[in-house]
Amino acid sequence: TAKERGKAGFVRYADGMREPVLAHMQLGGELRRALENDEFRVVYQPIVRLDDGRLIGVEALVRWHHPVRGVVGPAEFIPAAERTGLIVPLGRFVLRETCGQASAWLAEFGPEALAEAGLNVSARQLHDPDFVAEVTAALTDSGLPCERLVLEVTESAVLRGQQVSRALHELDRMGIRLALDDFGTGESSLSLLRAFPAAIIKLDKSFVDGIEIDDGGPVTPDARQAVARAVIQLAGALGLATVAEGIESAEQVAVLRELGYTVGQGYFLGEPMTADGVSRLLAVQRKAAPGPHPGGQRNSDR
Ligand code: C2E
Ligand code: MG
Ligand code: MG
Ligand code: MG
Repeated sequence: TAKERGKAGFVRYADGMREPVLAHMQLGGELRRALENDEFRVVYQPIVRLDDGRLIGVEALVRWHHPVRGVVGPAEFIPAAERTGLIVPLGRFVLRETCGQASAWLAEFGPEALAEAGLNVSARQLHDPDFVAEVTAALTDSGLPCERLVLEVTESAVLRGQQVSRALHELDRMGIRLALDDFGTGESSLSLLRAFPAAIIKLDKSFVDGIEIDDGGPVTPDARQAVARAVIQLAGALGLATVAEGIESAEQVAVLRELGYTVGQGYFLGEPMTADGVSRLLAVQRKAAPGPHPGGQRNSDR
């Protein structure tokens, strides 16, 4: 037969290709079951200062601990979760988990240790008339102050009309910061910035890739750095903060700093990790921080 049903319920063709429509339906059922079985986990990727590597925030990223397939990344199930609407309960889980965790870090390590926690929000969630109330409830229940929360949205999600725009402005008025994720990859980045109450621009990884290359070839370093340079100028002019995404080397950090970026995220600076992993980083950072009294010295070996 052409296809074969695996133990996990995924439909696969013998050649390894998944049959799109049926597989998506199956995946919807799988996701619903996974939510009920508590198979989703949140990991946190450090967002750090580029000058001294200090952790200033985290981004929450969801993972699916599938009983058969192991850890599954969001690229494999977020699209199906969006299509089936399951992103709404899944997103609520990530929101509650992140607010609770950030509030716990705040209590344990103090207000200076970690400025903010961010999470990704899909268009579908922004369309949900209950979304703003859910965010409010998550903040209230966790005790996390609104200025500690960052909601990351993509350009395409923002361009979805009145309801979404209303929700975004309401969140902004509450003091929650909005970040434009994957900036530069969407269709109308520039006009969007005037209508959308963004506080942070996240420069997409694709504009960080290759930024350090200076090989004397036809593509000059200036050309490779053009978008990153334009974005930091734009952010400066509009008074927005920036985060450079997907930083994988010290050379990229050096170029980005030269361009004026002060904050970044990427495997070179820290991979997504469990909440305990972040706690350990915060504990190390607390030890290394200058003491409360004058003369307290910062460790210089990090
Ligand atoms: P994103 O929001 O742009 O998140 C950054 C992605 O880039 C993460 O992938 C992260 O692990 C990866 N990344 C970070 N640094 C590096 C690097 O140096 N090199 C490379 N190659 N990759 C790096 P991840 O966790 O697989 O998430 C993929 C996307 O899935 C996210 O992109 C976001 O759009 C979406 N996503 C993740 N969690 C959620 C969620 O809870 N809700 C929603 N709606 N979407 C989510
Ligand atoms: Mg993001
Ligand atoms: Mg991103
Ligand atoms: Mg991205």
